[in-house]
Amino acid sequence: MDEQKVSAEADKYIFQTYGRANAITLIRGDGCRLWDDNGREYLDFVSGLAVCSLGHSSPLVIKVLEEQSKKLVHVSNLYYTKPQADLARILIENSFADKVFFCNSGAEANEAAIKLVRRYSNEKSDNKKNTIISMNNSFHGRTMATLSATGQEKVRTGFSPLVQGFEFVDFNNLEMLEQAIDDTVCAVMLEPIQGEGGVVCPDKYYLKGVRKICDDNDLMLIFDEVQVGTGRTGKLFAYENFGVTPDIMTIAKALGNGLPIGAMLSTDNIASAFCPGTHATTFGGTPLVSAVAAAVVTSMLEDGILENCREMGEYFRAGLNELKDKYSCIKEVRGYGLIIGMELDQPGAPVVTECQERGFLINCAQEKILRFIPPLVIGKNEIDFLLETLNDILGRM
Ligand SMILES: *Cc1c(COP(=O)(O)O)cnc(C)c1O
Repeated sequence: MDEQKVSAEADKYIFQTYGRANAITLIRGDGCRLWDDNGREYLDFVSGLAVCSLGHSSPLVIKVLEEQSKKLVHVSNLYYTKPQADLARILIENSFADKVFFCNSGAEANEAAIKLVRRYSNEKSDNKKNTIISMNNSFHGRTMATLSATGQEKVRTGFSPLVQGFEFVDFNNLEMLEQAIDDTVCAVMLEPIQGEGGVVCPDKYYLKGVRKICDDNDLMLIFDEVQVGTGRTGKLFAYENFGVTPDIMTIAKALGNGLPIGAMLSTDNIASAFCPGTHATTFGGTPLVSAVAAAVVTSMLEDGILENCREMGEYFRAGLNELKDKYSCIKEVRGYGLIIGMELDQPGAPVVTECQERGFLINCAQEKILRFIPPLVIGKNEIDFLLETLNDILGRM
């Protein structure tokens, strides 16, 4: 099928919810490389939006998929399966949490977190404490509850009536957070690094301050690590970078390296608010996806993936900072590990388009922030190729 035909059919038959103006039709991937249906090769600095952290066609993922698919794909959560128990143990042994709930996406993980804090707090407060404070410029998903928790007008517009019980304050503003707390508030929900918001990093003492405010006011702290968890920052979980532990954490994107899985983790005490019958999902933690996710996380911990992420992240940021010293259109380079934002003083879309024409897939968040989220297995050569190309593009702008 040629390129014209695929995009024309897609546009004819699929809801027009995605802006795919310059979109190519991709047919194959290998490591950090992708190929389109014209045989053109691309270096991938998007990773399916921070998902394919071990790269495309990962031999490990292929092997586990093949083996597990021959044994057992799905049986429902009426029964136990070993891959699900294994994945749970690995996540719990390597995080602050005591319990995990498995689901299928980031939004669903956040939906579970929202339901959990409400159920926990409503029970204890006779339904009086159930407001969740969220952040302006945040992103938590597209379901009704998670878009209601999202602090971006463009995500919420047109979908009223929204789910009630969310208040918004500015990220990196402790005073505003303190002022927003009254006796109806039960939890604070935030991304430790705002991803869709443009790779906005926390100020040095911000997350510690949030933790203290939560402790002082008996509030639960939810970290949405859907994008920045599971290795992306060079630690298995982003909170490890900041010396701050949440009470509840959500993960998804990279957990299955492209297979759909999300997870919501919490301490035992809070987890007790979910008893049999209170929350469920048919596909949550199937043996097939759990086996892959268990292998992904184990590989991150044991195969030097996190080390490579930290090292390459530092190398990449240093290269981008050299460009910043050269070109005044670059305002800031920021990030942790291999989630890096480069803020421009102008729209980033033309740079994205030009990069794509030269064989590099990059992404732009919030109009002016180029976002680099390559596979965590990327090497210096690939980074050098992109840096040279960006140097050339920015030099002409
Ligand atoms: C992508 C994302 C979500 C939503 O995840 P889906 O799998 O698309 O539902 C939620 N929170 C954050 C921080 C994200 O980056």
